[in-house]
Amino acid sequence: MTTSDNRVLIVGSVGLDAVSTPHGSVDRVLGGAASYSSVAASFFAPVSMVGVVGRDFQRENIELFESRGIDISALEVREGETFFWAGEYGEDPNQAITHATDLNVFADFRPVLPQPHREHPYVFLANIDPELQLEVLDQMESPEFVAADTMNFWITGKKDELIQVLKRVTLALMNDAEARMLTGRKLLIEAAEDVLALGPRYVAIKKGEHGALLFSRDSLFSAPSYPIRQIVDPTGAGDSFAGALVGYLASTGDAAEPNMRKAIVYGSTVASFDVEDFSLRRLAALSREQIEERYRVFQRIAEF
Ligand code: AMP
Repeated sequence: MTTSDNRVLIVGSVGLDAVSTPHGSVDRVLGGAASYSSVAASFFAPVSMVGVVGRDFQRENIELFESRGIDISALEVREGETFFWAGEYGEDPNQAITHATDLNVFADFRPVLPQPHREHPYVFLANIDPELQLEVLDQMESPEFVAADTMNFWITGKKDELIQVLKRVTLALMNDAEARMLTGRKLLIEAAEDVLALGPRYVAIKKGEHGALLFSRDSLFSAPSYPIRQIVDPTGAGDSFAGALVGYLASTGDAAEPNMRKAIVYGSTVASFDVEDFSLRRLAALSREQIEERYRVFQRIAEF
């Protein structure tokens, strides 16, 4: 599983979060889309992370990445402060209220990939400026599989650039509200058709606690989300989903539709662990055996 032809490159935010939910609050804890997705992917395949942090980024966070075997040689440490996001969730775990987004050293982040990183066959472009996502794609040699995530901010602010990204990816990831916003369609099936018409082979639409849909031109898969009793902190669920999905695909080298279904279920499984605790605490304590056990439960509850 650790051959050089299943390496996953992940580019995105690495940050510190202050999060408040009905179950408590935390401050300046590890966050960022690349942190969640890289740790999630690392359960399945070797991961290289590309990002930037400031001098205030705690040593223990670096140690977590290292303990998961993540290659952080392209995680820059710059003078200044780390990207900081403050958010709050009420009773609805799908609705984050953002209180602060301080880009700090992330403001002039320009990903420059070392040569070995350009040869990685699997790529996950986490939610960052689509112009940067394009710069990363321009540096890649010939990736086999590229997944990209986005958010409402870029759909409103940089739609043309985002469409250029979508033309070049294998899998487009977004949540239901973003799919509707991007396409102007109310029905998700129509929204998915519009996104597929831009070029990606697959589009995965995340519906929070209602699961995920996977569309291709000639197939549709609907996965439930794993029913957990207590969502302590929903932060990073989407990123954990994406990381595990791409990591699983990389570990199997098979992006055909039947295996994409399994990847979606692995993504949902790892996301269901993520939300059981704040920050990356649950992912840090997770094992591949626990993932497999919950994956089997998932198979049973979705079978008919
Ligand atoms: P998610 O819960 O999947 O939406 O991702 C949450 C993570 O995204 C948090 O840990 C934040 O640090 C990070 N984040 C929030 N806003 C942004 C942004 N504008 N750009 C990049 N990352 C962000």
